[in-house]
Amino acid sequence: MTPDLFGRHRAVLPDWLALYYEDPLEITHGEGRHVWDAAGNKYLDFFGGILTTMTAHALPEVAKAVGEQAGRILHSSTLYLNRPMVELAERVACLSGIPDARVFFTTSGTEANDTALLLATAYRRSNTILAMRNSYHGRSFSAVGVTGNRGWSPTSLSPLQTLYVHGGVRTRGPYAHLDDREFTDACVDDLKDLLGHTRAPAALIAEPVQGVGGFTSPPDGLYAAFREVLHERGILWIADEVQTGWGRTGEHFWGWQAHGQNGPPDIVTFAKGIGNGMSVGGVVARAEIMNCLDANSISTFGGTQVTMAAGLANLAYLLEHDLQGNARRVGGLLLERLRSVAARVPHVREVRGRGLMIGVELTRPGTDEAAPEAASAVLEEARAGGLLIGKGGGHDTSALRIAPPMSLTVAEAEEGAAILERALRSV
Ligand code: PLP
Repeated sequence: MTPDLFGRHRAVLPDWLALYYEDPLEITHGEGRHVWDAAGNKYLDFFGGILTTMTAHALPEVAKAVGEQAGRILHSSTLYLNRPMVELAERVACLSGIPDARVFFTTSGTEANDTALLLATAYRRSNTILAMRNSYHGRSFSAVGVTGNRGWSPTSLSPLQTLYVHGGVRTRGPYAHLDDREFTDACVDDLKDLLGHTRAPAALIAEPVQGVGGFTSPPDGLYAAFREVLHERGILWIADEVQTGWGRTGEHFWGWQAHGQNGPPDIVTFAKGIGNGMSVGGVVARAEIMNCLDANSISTFGGTQVTMAAGLANLAYLLEHDLQGNARRVGGLLLERLRSVAARVPHVREVRGRGLMIGVELTRPGTDEAAPEAASAVLEEARAGGLLIGKGGGHDTSALRIAPPMSLTVAEAEEGAAILERALRSV
């Protein structure tokens, strides 16, 4: 579509900066739940720039707040008082569910997780981290070092000692036949066993629903059971809410709340949706953990006024329009609709999800084998039909990922499901 730009991209950008689609897409603008490409084609966006467009594309309230703030000052550094940063921190602390919460803003999810690891290792004086198999936590040296997804981590020589815990995936493999109770018990036994021969880990970092891993959720309560085992030993629980925060999962405002029976995590990290495309990430933790660093640790661009203004306007819109409730209602309808499609398409192994975070796992018909080529082919077909979706999973990437802006309407959900059904059937 834009061969010249593609050639230039390949000439100056890294090979590992992978692009979707055989004929790569150049998106030029968006509105609501739609985007347009350079040739003027319109697409229903069921991926939201990897869950980053949380409310809607080109939301006037966010655009106005950004424009007004940009007209005053873009950045003054954290050396000076910053009203939008204080105000967003107040809102996030209050929403976090963490007592005596302190908030630190970063510019990405990676940097948020890096900060959480910095805090946990300093607080606990240990550089051993527990992480989940198949997880993804970002691309910095330490974040990739705790990433369990084999598609991302093999080149990392991170100095953190990371031990991987079961609990992420069970659609296939040895845990597949277990029911929720048995699965939880098996994972808790595995964790206890690991801790029996490990010296004092600092923390467990985990996504409540694995994002890059293909939108897989453990049974409700798994992390509550883990939390009990961890807290008996003083080990912290870091919930990576980069994809699952802000009501995306419908039932809860934070993904961890499906596991919050015995209290919140010690540290929560967030990013993606809160800025609706502006670079806002951050960490929330109890004061005693946040304040354990005894040297300055600033982020030059973290908390910059213009990004905080975007976050405040975006969060206000989300809460005023109850987009969490919308994610629950419309996501529920979409899940049901896709499950009925799946029953008629042999290579759909499972449709799973919470709210507007829905995964469609593809396997070779009648087998347990991943079908990454089918996932890529469905992506292409959906695009040809005017629908953008994502893909993910283990490193075999055989799951489709559906995560539209949370203002998705019922009519748009129906339209997207119909396009996806045609794409699934044609492959
Ligand atoms: N954590 C999770 C769960 C993510 O899905 C991602 C990105 O996809 C990250 C962290 C890294 O965030 P960023 O790409 O903003 O650095």
